[in-house]
Amino acid sequence: MRKKVIAGNWKMNMLPNEAIEFIQEFAPLVKDTQNEVILCVPYTDLFYVLLNTQDTNIKVGAQNMHWEENGAYTGEVSAKMLKSIGVKYVIIGHSERRAYFAETDETVNKKVKTALENELTPIVCVGETLEQREQGLTKDIITNQTKLALDGLDESQVEKVIIAYEPIWAIGTGKTATSEDANDSVKAIREEISKIYGQNVANRVIIQYGGSVKSSNAKELFTTSDIDGGLVGGASLKAEEFAKIVNYEL
Ligand code: PEP
Repeated sequence: MRKKVIAGNWKMNMLPNEAIEFIQEFAPLVKDTQNEVILCVPYTDLFYVLLNTQDTNIKVGAQNMHWEENGAYTGEVSAKMLKSIGVKYVIIGHSERRAYFAETDETVNKKVKTALENELTPIVCVGETLEQREQGLTKDIITNQTKLALDGLDESQVEKVIIAYEPIWAIGTGKTATSEDANDSVKAIREEISKIYGQNVANRVIIQYGGSVKSSNAKELFTTSDIDGGLVGGASLKAEEFAKIVNYEL
């Protein structure tokens, strides 16, 4: 059975002192969960968050990385740099990066490969815009994004990737896909993976839902047949609320 993986995406929020306070409140609240708990934090918080989560069940992720190992890329951070300080996860291709920072399916694919080569687990975001949804293109868009993100990986690598299905119209808007709708989209992604890499691989890949997840809708979303947890933005900034999401089954 696939485990549930619940990751917070703090985006460009939280100063180090706020991050430390958050962990002091959050860690005891989630210490008994069987679910995997990840905090994806700004680069400037990574060191502090790693230090303060050392004796906890909380894993730490970054929100982006470059695909090259090193070189003249001012302002960028490599997978090797993240790995060297103990980061285990990295979000790749978040819709905000695709929309505002020219992230493409091609750069997403390069980053996924480099992340895996450096033993980081990529959390790859895919999702349709409202316009694409209204045109009936949701499944085409998300299956194509998935296929391109995974292009060139072998089966054992694909199993290590986490996919986050995040309908763009649901991110930060308070609008959530219905659990049935979200589960159908996640199923379509799993079927696409099955077509290319086989059913066994597809059965093992963790596919999250993201888009205005909160404590009041987490259980309904995370207990569907195919959704394996969530990528949570706004609601991951409040320790008590995020802990309720992590502990959704209690
Ligand atoms: C996200 O940033 O990945 C996200 C899903 O944000 P929110 O939960 O705020 O919609």
